[in-house]
Amino acid sequence: MAVIRAEVERRMAQLKTFARARGVKLTHQRLEIFREVASRTDHPAVDAVFRAVQARIPTVSLDTVYRTLWVLEDLGLLSTLGPRHGAVRFDANLRRHHHYVCTRCGLTRDFESSAFDALKSPSSVTSFGQVVATRVELRGVCRTCSEKVAERPARTRRKTAPRTTRRAG
Ligand SMILES: [Zn+2]
Ligand SMILES: [Zn+2]
Repeated sequence: MAVIRAEVERRMAQLKTFARARGVKLTHQRLEIFREVASRTDHPAVDAVFRAVQARIPTVSLDTVYRTLWVLEDLGLLSTLGPRHGAVRFDANLRRHHHYVCTRCGLTRDFESSAFDALKSPSSVTSFGQVVATRVELRGVCRTCSEKVAERPARTRRKTAPRTTRRAG
């Protein structure tokens, strides 16, 4: 799923404004790395961003992608999901929103909810520290994963048929 073009352009414009204000240099590679995350709804991890950008810019390195994503996070243009170490995933949606996460495939989707926005954090939380944002994560099994399970109830039998190759596009 892709973000609509007007929203991607809005995010790109915001990147330029934020970077200028903070004196962060925007190279072609940095712009393309942000554009990749800004145009996706799947909250990609570093590896996924790297593979996609590398297809357009073969000279880009994994290290550049990694460092750029954290620069963008530091600028406040990306937020992260998941653990700081390991498979951190990046989110370019700065609007107040919540997440649906599939526990099988990791599919992550944004949704908005005024009811969730209005949630009050319990007083017990204040003992941990200050609350700056509330983000609800709903977990479940996505449609695709549910259908896969329904299609193949017996997973013990191994298919020997040759795999069909999928054409891109
Ligand atoms: Zn799934
Ligand atoms: Zn999100």
